[in-house]
Amino acid sequence: MIGLTEAFPLNEASIHQVLAAPPAEDAVRIRELLAKAREMKGLDDGDLPSLMTIQDPGLLQELFDTARWVKDQIYGNRIVMFAPLYVSNQCGNECLYCAFRASNLELPRRTLGMEEIANEVRCLLAQGQKRLVLVAGEDYPGEGLDYLISAIRTVYEVRHGKDNIRRVNINIAPLDVDGFRRLKDAEIGTYQLFQETYHRETYHRMHTRGTKADYDWRLGCMDRAMMAGIDDVGIGPLFGLYDWRFELLATMQHARHLEERFGCGPHTISMPRIEPAAGSSTSEAPPYAVSDEDFKKIIAIIRLAVPYTGMILSTRERPEVRREAMHLGISQISAGSRTNPGGYLDDSINGGTQFSLGDHRNLDEVVRDLAEMGFLPSFCTSCYRMGRTGADFMDLAKPGEIKAHCNPNALATLQEYLEDHASPLTRCVSEQMMARCFRDLDAPTREKAEHMVAQVKRGQRDVFC
Ligand code: SAM
Ligand code: SF4
Repeated sequence: MIGLTEAFPLNEASIHQVLAAPPAEDAVRIRELLAKAREMKGLDDGDLPSLMTIQDPGLLQELFDTARWVKDQIYGNRIVMFAPLYVSNQCGNECLYCAFRASNLELPRRTLGMEEIANEVRCLLAQGQKRLVLVAGEDYPGEGLDYLISAIRTVYEVRHGKDNIRRVNINIAPLDVDGFRRLKDAEIGTYQLFQETYHRETYHRMHTRGTKADYDWRLGCMDRAMMAGIDDVGIGPLFGLYDWRFELLATMQHARHLEERFGCGPHTISMPRIEPAAGSSTSEAPPYAVSDEDFKKIIAIIRLAVPYTGMILSTRERPEVRREAMHLGISQISAGSRTNPGGYLDDSINGGTQFSLGDHRNLDEVVRDLAEMGFLPSFCTSCYRMGRTGADFMDLAKPGEIKAHCNPNALATLQEYLEDHASPLTRCVSEQMMARCFRDLDAPTREKAEHMVAQVKRGQRDVFC
């Protein structure tokens, strides 16, 4: 058994050393690294500073082209869809950038009861969502975990016609190993938690009260989750709190640490950037705001460094940023999100949101936009239900074998969405895109996908392989 004291020993000094003496922008070295990235085995941490130096527009374009190529090879045109489900905005912590922080007395507070959660889930099912991430403030210990476990059970139990939620990911405060065992038993998908900033001093300045003020408790969280048997975990910094170069290198150290210790790195890396939050001057003017250009560079570098790790972009970002980011490496996006508990059922409730959104389109509009760009929106939840998680997933993903599952699953789940939820225009645009996808598949995969899509058209639901 691994001792808790051994939890992720971030080497801050080594990162500061690199940032204090960054390499010069060297076109030869950069092109060598881009060639190495095309082997799709990832990059070493020592390779990243050279890529971070890129300023020359031509080299930047080469970086973006390489990221796009790697993304295409591994993920094809698939983009996985999900929505957040906020169940509580009560919080005892004081994160200076968040509207839910304890001192924000103006914020209307609400913790949804089980029937209210079921109502939210019905709204999401009516839109066509199949994958959720359940989100909450931190207002416990005590009965907090019992409440969350009941909430997860409620989400899975709701039926709306033939629809149900098939995967619940979780973004809640860190637990101890026993707590994580209970989450695993509740059959969660991925456990996500953002370190916010890996820079200890900034962390202490930004988190001034409550359990979250303990940097080490948060830093060791994924070790505890994986010790408890949760093998799909999602990490990420909150970009804007400290120098993105530091956060990028620290995130990669975190990923390597999990891979070395548990035989499998993070399932996903999220890419949140700070958005304005009610009454928070920190969120209005983040100390290290990341420009759109740098944001694209970060996404491209992570895609090359860990090609098989899913990358998540939320509705924090504006549609134009999301469109570009998907080409560069993002593999999962949310759509139609509300960040206030109860916000799906009652859209008129404006109060109680965590931060303001950059993308206000509904799911149908986002699906149509994706299809118009040639992307294949996927509502697939197959891997997790077939036990293809953690190292087992990576063993299939790395030799490319997972595609024989992903493409048919994406096509079948999109067809289900089109049959049950799409507007006529979205259906028309998506079917044209799907016809092109079928043409691009190898013969056995095409046959399997055609068979699954035909099953859905005949009325079968939840068809997956
Ligand atoms: N309360 C738990 C926690 O803090 O880990 C889990 C859920 S919290 C609601 C989800 C995430 O929202 C946080 O980890 C933080 O990164 C992000 N967040 C908070 N304020 C934000 C803001 N103003 N803009 C963008 N993201 C924000
Ligand atoms: Fe609470 Fe999480 Fe917001 Fe911090 S980020 S105030 S812990 S909800």
